[in-house]
Amino acid sequence: LVSRQHHPDRSTVWVGGVPIGPDTFTFIAGPCAVESAAQTLEAAEMAKAAGATLMRGGAYKPRTSPYAFQGLGVAGLEILSSVREATGLPVVTEVVDARDVPVVAEHADMLQVGTRNMANFGLLQAVGESGRPVLLKRGMTATIEEWLMAAEYIAQRGNLDVVLCERGIRTFEPATRNTLDISAVPVVQATSHLPIIVDPSHAAGRKDLVVPLSRAAIAVGADGVIVDVHPDPETALCDGPQALLGNELRLLAQAVRQLPPA
Ligand code: PEP
Repeated sequence: LVSRQHHPDRSTVWVGGVPIGPDTFTFIAGPCAVESAAQTLEAAEMAKAAGATLMRGGAYKPRTSPYAFQGLGVAGLEILSSVREATGLPVVTEVVDARDVPVVAEHADMLQVGTRNMANFGLLQAVGESGRPVLLKRGMTATIEEWLMAAEYIAQRGNLDVVLCERGIRTFEPATRNTLDISAVPVVQATSHLPIIVDPSHAAGRKDLVVPLSRAAIAVGADGVIVDVHPDPETALCDGPQALLGNELRLLAQAVRQLPPA
């Protein structure tokens, strides 16, 4: 269902009235985690001022350590809903448990399945039945074929509104948290009709690489980028080192706009 044999033309997925697909470049930004109403609103306003048309923010955080901040849960979803009302930006947020799909779908415009859950087939089927578009991140140890099969699980449940997100894979290289597999963008586009965006923040884990990797994403023809922003990265409860400040986000937006789409 996700292959170009089934559907030769590349697809556009609409999220709260915003297109993601071949005729546009979609800029998504927001905090890694929803920490408070004030922090989320400030981050969303920074995103909007820089030209983002969708906001991200995690209310459920899948963390490597069980002792790390796990997200605000339903209270975080309520904050996201109120920030959407205040800013007009549709919301992309992660769901980590199939049982939470209905409540997340109630508050979000797009459901994200993160790298750690790419092969959680029960969750994929649940988001396939959610009635919401899905952002499917690549598993950090998944091949492109396995990733496309994960998308197939969602599509098979009747949901073809799936956007793929390359967010880096595990390699032997320690300079970055993960290695952004930029070649995945044209490889996926040759095989699948689904839109594909890039997450340079989670790939690198370092904010100094976010602009160069975003330029790389545009150069290979990605359909958008999703980046972390925080009003005070030093105090962030999650992934502060990769979060941009408002002025840096504006520089990113300018850098991205200087390159014509491939
Ligand atoms: C995220 O986008 O908040 C996230 C945790 O990303 P990933 O699943 O790619 O690590």
